[in-house]
Amino acid sequence: MADAFGFEVTARDAAARRGRMRTPHGIVETPAFMPVGTRASVKALTMRDLEGLGATIVLANTYHLFLRPGDELIGRRGGLHRFMGWTRPILTDSGGYQVYSLGDLRRVDEQGVRFRSHLDGSEHLLTPERAVDIQARLGSDVAMVLDECAAWPCSEAEARAAMERTARWARRNRDRFLALRAGAVDGVTPTNPGQAQFGIVQGSTFPDLREESARLTVGVGFEGYAIGGLSVGEPADLMYKVIGETAPCLPEEQPRYLMGVGMPDDLVEAVARGIDLFDCVLPTRNARNGQLLTREGPVNIRNARFAEDDRPPDERCGCYTCRTHSRAYLRHLATVNEMASATLNTLHNLHFYLDTMREIREAIEFGSFGKFRQAFHRTFSRRTPIT
Ligand SMILES: [Zn+2]
Repeated sequence: MADAFGFEVTARDAAARRGRMRTPHGIVETPAFMPVGTRASVKALTMRDLEGLGATIVLANTYHLFLRPGDELIGRRGGLHRFMGWTRPILTDSGGYQVYSLGDLRRVDEQGVRFRSHLDGSEHLLTPERAVDIQARLGSDVAMVLDECAAWPCSEAEARAAMERTARWARRNRDRFLALRAGAVDGVTPTNPGQAQFGIVQGSTFPDLREESARLTVGVGFEGYAIGGLSVGEPADLMYKVIGETAPCLPEEQPRYLMGVGMPDDLVEAVARGIDLFDCVLPTRNARNGQLLTREGPVNIRNARFAEDDRPPDERCGCYTCRTHSRAYLRHLATVNEMASATLNTLHNLHFYLDTMREIREAIEFGSFGKFRQAFHRTFSRRTPIT
């Protein structure tokens, strides 16, 4: 089953890549966006909705599933795919990022991260080995290593310490993963024998650290590589610079995943620098807060000026929401907090993200990505509200 996972680059346009990632649960055409299903559910949607949107892979959060309902319970149900009724690929994070976000509730040392549950205050220790075991029980198609993400801004010494620990942990993550694959760990039953594991490059915004981190992580040897520690408060231009410097340090023939990014224009810019995979809570979280992301930019549908606006949210969008409903109706639903508001807004936002990725893939195939990129930025603005 070790060859159940594979990746090939099928077309290139400057640094942008069109690829195909093979997993035990199917093919992911890249560049691809992964909707975030934090607790084994993309909030407000059904699996049927996700399939209808054309999502080929979703992300689930190990931290949340470990706490509730527990990885052992999910393992006994045959793994996450069966448990949540999703037959296509799943990527799980390591739980590390959520644990770091707990602030005072966590402590990091060489062994791992000690933290208190945000639910009941119970104490837990997440080590690289434990993160691998939990994801083996969940049975995702791609498991992520436990890393240490430095805060932003941080000193070069702090960034170096987190990067070096991440490199030491990378080895422990990989050793445990290979031991599990060889059936050499008692008490852990993997539910997806074809699972792949991605390493994570850290190093904050320091080019030398990023390069060293890439070299050390690639030296351990993973099925794919992620760029972590971005979109943590730094300006977009600086983020693009780091991506542009880091992506070329990663192997040409393996998938590259930019974690937790971002706005639609960030996705276009990261693809231009050679990224293949993305995830972000932004389209789903913002949908629930009444923010629609359109080809022209973000729209706050709660705004009073939409009260009698009969136009669809985005006149160029072909999603169910835009084909069926007006801004006036969606504003009403958001204002009175109807549940359908979250569903309809999420359907639109994810359609927009997935459709943008489809357009990106086509443009790379036709060698017109540069043109697409220019046209995208001419229309899309983060600030200018549409009228
Ligand atoms: Zn739409």
